[in-house]
Amino acid sequence: KKITFAGMEARIYKSTGSWYVAKGADGVVYKARMKGLFKHDKGITSTNPVAVGDYVDLVIENGDAMISVIHDRRNYIVRESPHGRVKKHIVAANMDQAILVTTVATPRTSQGFMDRFLVTAAAYHIPVILLFNKKDIFREKDIEQYAIYEDMYSEIGYTVRLISATDATDIGMVQEMLAGKTTLLSGHSGVGKSTLINGLLPASHLKTTAVSDWSGKGQHTTTFAEMFDLEDGGSLIDTPGIRELGIVDIEKVELSHYFLEMQPYLQACRFNSCLHLNEPGCAVRAAVDEGKIYPERYISYVTILASMEEKSH
Ligand code: GDP
Ligand code: ZN
Repeated sequence: KKITFAGMEARIYKSTGSWYVAKGADGVVYKARMKGLFKHDKGITSTNPVAVGDYVDLVIENGDAMISVIHDRRNYIVRESPHGRVKKHIVAANMDQAILVTTVATPRTSQGFMDRFLVTAAAYHIPVILLFNKKDIFREKDIEQYAIYEDMYSEIGYTVRLISATDATDIGMVQEMLAGKTTLLSGHSGVGKSTLINGLLPASHLKTTAVSDWSGKGQHTTTFAEMFDLEDGGSLIDTPGIRELGIVDIEKVELSHYFLEMQPYLQACRFNSCLHLNEPGCAVRAAVDEGKIYPERYISYVTILASMEEKSH
């Protein structure tokens, strides 16, 4: 017996490339497939055009849930594939904010890594919260290093918090920041993302359970981005196995726009095409010399710019 009814809005919670987990407006979780083959999606060539966080329309045909429409994305992030014909994949869509979990204890997150993440998020217009984890094992030098980062990044305009993922009060504070929002969770392996997620999720949805159900051992081999509902109405997007978001689709002359503290000076550079290296009349360089821009951030800028030069040759 053929059952067909009109489309229903749903949101994608997991995307494997061949099938998807979608939660319908009816509150039911469906295992869905694509209707037809989408090869091109708004300039991004991808065999997997549906991303976690996407809003879609589902139709039920012969008892199977099919994705018939992908709604326009408010924002999205992509990552570059090191191999394969398809160069970019959409990782997640429709985010309100991103959390970068880092630590100055072990494994210490480098400032370069943080700044590349911040550039990528700024390019995609996603506000970032920097969570420094493992405060319970900070030594004196770690406390000093954190204080430097806290001053620097909050001055630039980022939200910075010091937590321990095992501390219930800190988890409560993070929970408040996530309420009612879709948040991308990112960070180097080992910084405490899984611990944090397990603290945030309702007891019945522990991440370790979901992972072992799905891939057997919870090893980071080929896991996919996944979204989890939080108790206070928000959702958390976890991207296991994705080491770093690629700095893609950014022109060299644009890079300084995504160093938020450089923005006020860009109009004052003598040349429109100023890369803020050795050009005469560079207002960014002048601001660095006058102590208005942190030298460490300027070094990150030059380093990222250099990595973009290499790629374009
Ligand atoms: P992930 O790779 O980012 O998911 O990191 P995990 O959550 O697996 O944590 C890596 C290691 O750090 C584990 O041994 C955790 O127990 C430990 N860890 C996580 N958060 C904290 C914390 O706040 N304090 C301390 N001391 N250890 C932590
Ligand atoms: Zn300049």
